[in-house]
Amino acid sequence: AVQIERLSAGFGPRNVLYGMSLTAEAGRVTALIGPSGCGKSTALRCINRLHERDATAWVRGVVSLVDAPRVSDVYAAGTDVSALRQRIGMVFQYPTPFVTQSIFDNVAAGVRVGQPGIARARLEQAVEEALVRAGLWREVADRLRSSAMALSGGQQQRLCIARALAVHPDVLLLDEPTASLDPIATQRIEELLYDLRGSVTMLLVTHNMQQAARISDTTAVLLDGLIVECAPTRQLFTTPRDSRAEAYVMGRF
Ligand code: ATP
Ligand code: MG
Repeated sequence: AVQIERLSAGFGPRNVLYGMSLTAEAGRVTALIGPSGCGKSTALRCINRLHERDATAWVRGVVSLVDAPRVSDVYAAGTDVSALRQRIGMVFQYPTPFVTQSIFDNVAAGVRVGQPGIARARLEQAVEEALVRAGLWREVADRLRSSAMALSGGQQQRLCIARALAVHPDVLLLDEPTASLDPIATQRIEELLYDLRGSVTMLLVTHNMQQAARISDTTAVLLDGLIVECAPTRQLFTTPRDSRAEAYVMGRF
C-alpha cells in the first residue's frame, strides 16, 4: 500500500497540496480525480520523489510504502531514492518508450533495473513474461528486434507498462495513461489495468470519471489541494457525501 499523510507541496511561494491524506490499498486500483491544475500529477510525483527535481519544489508530510513486513518512509533521511524508484513504476500521459531502442531492449532495460547482471536466457524469459503481463506479447512476439517507434501509440503505452512491470514494482503510478489514446487503445489499457489488479498496487490519475468508475476500487477526489472524499468507487459516484465532491462528480463544478 501507499500511505500519504498530511502531504503539502508546492513550488516556491506557491502551495499546490494543502495536507492531503490518501491510502492506496495493496493490490487495488485507487483512482485520483480532480480538475485540471488541482495537483494530481504533483501528488504522484511526490510519491517517487520526482517532485524534487524542480529547483523551487518543496514537500512536507509523510509518504510511506507499506508492504508487510516492510514499511518505508519515502522522505526519511538516508532513503536510497533509486532503490525506492525500483519499487515504484510510473507511466505518463504520453508513451515514453526509448525510441532508439528495440521492443526487446525497452523491456530488457526494466528487467535489468530489477535484476542487474541477469543471465541472457533468464533475461529473454523475463522480457516475455513482462510483455505477456502487459497484454502485448502476441502482437510483438515476431518482431521483438523492431524499433519501439514502429508501434502504435496504444502499443507504445503497453510497452511502457511492460517496461515498468519488468522491474517488479510494488506500486504502479499512472498519470492519465490513456489521455493521448483513441477509444480502442484506451479500452485495451483499461482492460489491462483491470486485469493487473491483485498483482500490483495502482494509483491512477485521471480526469476521465467514467474510466475511474470502470476500473477503480476506490476513488479519491482532490480539490483545492485536499482529498475532499475517498470512498469505494461505486459509492463515490452514486452517493457522494461531501458536497464539493458531489458537485464535481455530478459535473456542476
Ligand atoms: P492536469 O489535470 O492538467 O494534469 P494536475 O492536477 O496534474 O493537472 P499539477 O500538474 O500537479 O496539476 O499542477 C498543480 C499546480 O502546480 C498547477 O497550478 C500548476 O500550474 C502548478 N505547477 C506545476 N508544475 C509547476 C512548476 N514546475 N512550477 C510552478 N508551478 C507548477
Ligand atoms: Mg497532471
